[in-house]
Amino acid sequence: MKERLQELQQEAIVKIDDSKDLKALNDVRVAYLGKKGPITEVLRGMGKLSAEERPVMGALANEVREAIASKIEEKQAALEAEEINRKLASETIDVTLPGRPVKVGTHHPLTSVIEEVEDLFLGMGYEVAEGPEVEQDYYNFEALNLPKGHPARDMQDTFYITEETLLRTHTSTVQARVMNGNEGKGPIKIICPGKVYRRDDDDATHSHQFMQIEGLVVDENIRMSDLKGTLEVFVKKMFGAEREIRLRPSFFPFTEPSVEVDVSCAKCGGKGCNVCKQTGWIEILGAGMVHPNVLEMAGYDSKKYRGFAFGIGVERIAMLKHGVDDIRHFYTNDARFLNQFKQV
Ligand SMILES: [Zn+2]
Repeated sequence: MKERLQELQQEAIVKIDDSKDLKALNDVRVAYLGKKGPITEVLRGMGKLSAEERPVMGALANEVREAIASKIEEKQAALEAEEINRKLASETIDVTLPGRPVKVGTHHPLTSVIEEVEDLFLGMGYEVAEGPEVEQDYYNFEALNLPKGHPARDMQDTFYITEETLLRTHTSTVQARVMNGNEGKGPIKIICPGKVYRRDDDDATHSHQFMQIEGLVVDENIRMSDLKGTLEVFVKKMFGAEREIRLRPSFFPFTEPSVEVDVSCAKCGGKGCNVCKQTGWIEILGAGMVHPNVLEMAGYDSKKYRGFAFGIGVERIAMLKHGVDDIRHFYTNDARFLNQFKQV
């Protein structure tokens, strides 16, 4: 019986050592230590032993059991450690591998132009003002010296929502709102960037939605020369220090006198080329001295206060700056077009 027990112990130890995984090890445990295992069987035969032999054999059987059990425990710990190591090895992140590229967006070219213009005017003491795109007829027309039935209303094909509400046709609405809000008191120095809408058929130079930046200065002693100086600073900043400006008489209902402003052609330097249609000049914006009626309607004393205003077409500036030949590129959101303006 003693030999049988020792034999079983050795057998079990070999099998434990050979176990490749936790399942195999568990099979060994069940086989040797289970109720139907060989050790239990040996112990059943103890009844045939003498009274002296019985406790000795019992002790030996327990020793064998414990030896096998502790060997299993040892092996189990080793197998578990192995498995953890294997898992770790398979899940290791190689930090030296190059990362996956992340697609980053870029500023839209129109946003960049607006920010550049804002920066410039903020530096000259202006504030940025905003207003609603769905506007009252009053602020879009009446407050700007365009009473109902005025023929100049036809200059701007308007999207009407109701008889009294419309999609604003220019950012001059913000100028009207700010002047009204001031109730005739104190100076104003603002620029107002934003979207405007007109019932135009879209083509290379027209869009039913486009962007403007309105500028307005109201104070005592404001003169035409202040307007010209301001526009000169603007043009040289946006198009280069060598550029000149030229003012041509024009008509807008809300300014008197009114001017169209041209910039000398950057491509030919004034000699004439295809960009400037052989004139040497490119029209970039409209401006003028705020009409006394507009000042009075907003509550300003037009004898005391004067002002100038200008309206910059953002797309026009961006097209000239970047040599873009079709305004629709700004609104079709083609990534191939937009990616060209990526800042690195
Ligand atoms: Zn030219």
